[in-house]
This record gives sequence, C-alpha cells and structure tokens, in this order.
Amino acid sequence: MNFCKELIDWYETYRRDLPWRRTEDPYRIWLSETILQQTRVAQGLPYYERFIARFPSIRDLALADETEVLKLWQGLGYYSRARNLHKAAQIIHAQYQDRFPEDYASIRALPGIGDYTAAAIASFSYNLCYPVMDGNVIRVMSRIHGIFEEAASQACRRQIMALLRQAIEPAQSGKFNQAIMEFGALACRPLNPVCQENKTESERKMGLAGKTKRTNRQRSLFEERAQGKENEPCQCPFRQECYAFRHGVIDQLPVKKKKEALPVYELHYLLIGDKNGLWVHKRGYNDLWRGMFDLPGLPERYWKKDESSEAVAAENVPGIEFLKHYTQVLSHRRLRVFFYKAEPGSSIGKEAVSEQEGCRKISWADLSQIAVPKNIEKFFEDFNLTSSRSEPSLKIF
Ligand code: SF4
Repeated sequence: MNFCKELIDWYETYRRDLPWRRTEDPYRIWLSETILQQTRVAQGLPYYERFIARFPSIRDLALADETEVLKLWQGLGYYSRARNLHKAAQIIHAQYQDRFPEDYASIRALPGIGDYTAAAIASFSYNLCYPVMDGNVIRVMSRIHGIFEEAASQACRRQIMALLRQAIEPAQSGKFNQAIMEFGALACRPLNPVCQENKTESERKMGLAGKTKRTNRQRSLFEERAQGKENEPCQCPFRQECYAFRHGVIDQLPVKKKKEALPVYELHYLLIGDKNGLWVHKRGYNDLWRGMFDLPGLPERYWKKDESSEAVAAENVPGIEFLKHYTQVLSHRRLRVFFYKAEPGSSIGKEAVSEQEGCRKISWADLSQIAVPKNIEKFFEDFNLTSSRSEPSLKIF
C-alpha cells in the first residue's frame, strides 16, 4: 500500500473547505494554526475571521497595541499564544521587512512557534519536507502501526517521526501533512473512528476493532447520518493494514498517561462601582493572564483557602454580598472564582483598591473594550454589565 497516496486521495475526497486551506500565505496559516491549538475548528473560525479582518497583514498586527490583540483573543484562553503572535509579528516587521521567513530554522526561532507549527507553516506554505506531529497524527500512527509507547513520551514521538519520514513524499509534503491531520480529525477520531460506523457484517461477527464509546455529539451525528440527513460518513482506506482495527484494540491506542488531579486555585473578586464606573485591576506581567484586566480581589484575610472539592464562599464578611461562583479548568490548574458586591460606601471596597497595585476605575461604557479572562467575561455577561442594549441585572450603587 502507498500510504501517502491513499491518504491524499482520502483527503481530496473528504476534506473540509476552510479559509486557511485556500491560501499559501504563511501569515494566515500561522494564525490559523495558532488559534487551532487547543481549540476546535467551529470555535476558532470566527476568531480567525475577526483577526484577518482587523489585521490583514503581518505589519498591521505588528503595529497594533497589545491590549487590542488580547481583546480580539478574549475567550480563546492560552493568552501567551496571542502575546507571542504579536511579538513574532513585531520581529518579522523589524527584521524581515514584513516578509515571513521562508526556511524552517528561521520560522522555528520565532516566539511561540514550536516544532509542530514550524513544520505546518514550512510545509503548507513552502512545501518543505517537515512532517507535522500533533495529537491527531499520534493517534492515527499509533493505531495503524500498533505503537504502545505512552503517547507523550519521547520514545513514541521518535518512533512516529521515523515512520512519517518514511511515508511522506517530499513533493507532496504540504498535502500529506494536511491530509493526516484531517484524517485524524474526521475519520480516526478519538472516541468513535469511522471504521466503527461502517463495519461489514463479517467484521462485526468476528468482533474486530473492539468497542469504542460515543459522545452525545457523535451519537447525534451518527443518528443524523443514519436518517440520511447528512452525506455518507467518510470511509477509512487503512482497515486492512491498521493494527488497532485488526486486533480490536482501538480504544487502547494511543496510550495515555493517567491524569493527575489538578491543583485548586481560588479567586475572590469584588465588584466595586458607582455611577461613574467600575474598579478594575490590571494584572502584572509575571502572572496568570498577564496584561489583562480582572477585578480587585477580596483581601485574603477575609477568606480561607479550601482544598476540598466543595467550593465555599467567604462568609460573615461585613459590607459584601456574595453574587456568584464559577469553576474553570485550565491546562495546569482548576480555578474556583467567587464574585461579591461591595456595598456602597463600605470600607472593604476601599481597602481592596488601596492594597492592590494596578487598580483603576473605568467608565461603564469602556468596560466592553478591555481584555478580560473568560470567567470575568462570563460574569459580565450573566449580569448584563457590558451590554449596551439591556440594563444590568444587578444593582451596584
Ligand atoms: S481502521 Fe479505524 S482505527 Fe484504524 S486508521 Fe482507520 S479509522 Fe483509524
């Protein structure tokens, strides 16, 4: 079997039509790859379109204010990606006269660009022969070749990279890389690969391919297809060769490390405002969400850090009223975020503002213009604090 040819044929049949696939412009490819790290296509697409509309060229991005870049990024999380994007655009502007570098080493040297993104840009834009390796690629290769090394280990990555180098045809590098990533996203999916949907009767009787679980979304997609509401699901051309399919071990590959419990981190925010505006707090530059805005914190002496699984708001603190609590899971910690309102004229609001550096008051009209972390954005939305069309659902002053 010619893996490269089969894969590219599959790609030409089933690929999605996405804006960054219609271009070889390295800026657009870089932007799309940066947005799509840890983000699904449906969620990332509007961000990509907004960025391109606002910053159509590297020069536009390089000359922008960081606050505006962060604001456009708001909601995607992983804000260091946006900061690095901005920093790299400034380097390309200053050192390469706005022309994206064209060799792998120079691309890889830009801030925020790792092996995967450098290989994607080099191959999609310049057809340079650098295989990409992301979670999709690791899953496809581990299953087809029966690789039981732990997926994040160096041993696994080395083995897969060697196999990719054998399989990739240099003249087709860009297409091969796009194809294998798309195949992982659409066909060899984590929970319900297509070979599970289209098993032949004899495969079913032989119990090939083992069991895989379906998420609710996959279940409803599958049901829609069964009712003829969508096109036929795509096929997998590798069933004969695929180790995981033949041995019924799809659900065991790739091998994942057991997840450790994430540390819990608590934030207690105070809403302090009057008719002129709201107090906000600009986070420091060595900090989570650096350079973005959140709210002044309730001084730590009023609440007790709690490692238990139950979220507990600060109690019996005069001058504040508990409003809402959210939890948010980041890649490296679990956040519990509590919001309180400072009663008008209460001393606790003054204490909070005077004890923290970076507090300032901004007008209600400007509140929607500042870049804030996801939990603050959610809180503002839930209480209509940034909507110009409806009244806040909270009496603040
Ligand atoms: S047979 Fe199934 S598990 Fe194997 S490559 Fe195809 S979709 Fe993936």
